[in-house]
Amino acid sequence: MLVFAHAGLTISAARAIDRDVDPRWAAALALGPDLLDKPLSLLDPALINHNTRSFGHTVFLSLFVLTALLIWKRRPKPALVLWACYIGHFLLDSMWRDPNPAILFWPLLGDFPPFVRGPIADSFTPWNVLGEIAGLILLVRLSRRHRLFERPRLAAFLKSGRLA
Ligand SMILES: [Zn+2]
Repeated sequence: MLVFAHAGLTISAARAIDRDVDPRWAAALALGPDLLDKPLSLLDPALINHNTRSFGHTVFLSLFVLTALLIWKRRPKPALVLWACYIGHFLLDSMWRDPNPAILFWPLLGDFPPFVRGPIADSFTPWNVLGEIAGLILLVRLSRRHRLFERPRLAAFLKSGRLA
């Protein structure tokens, strides 16, 4: 999945669990694995077998993220909600489908598998397209409800992370 699905679906799910979750952090963690791995795939593709999913998409790194969140938040619930945003990325990326388990459980199942690029049409699966549409709808609804299309309110939200 892409940006709208990861951000929109994850922010909505996180807010359903914890109304006080900071949507900025929920979105950052929902996109975290890709924010780590996509630049790395450009900087040092040989390190990760030319795959666009690598360290950020592993259980191993997610445990470091959980540790950092527990230290930062000092309370389990907010840390676990934000960690669920990170883990939710794995769900939306269908990390159970081949060859993703080798990435998810790296290094237990060997090296990162080589990236195999299929036709661009392969990206337009119902899972991806519906996810992007649903995520976009949820982001627009949230923005309209909290009037984030108004510049001062958007600026206040971006500064504080609070939805008034
Ligand atoms: Zn991803």
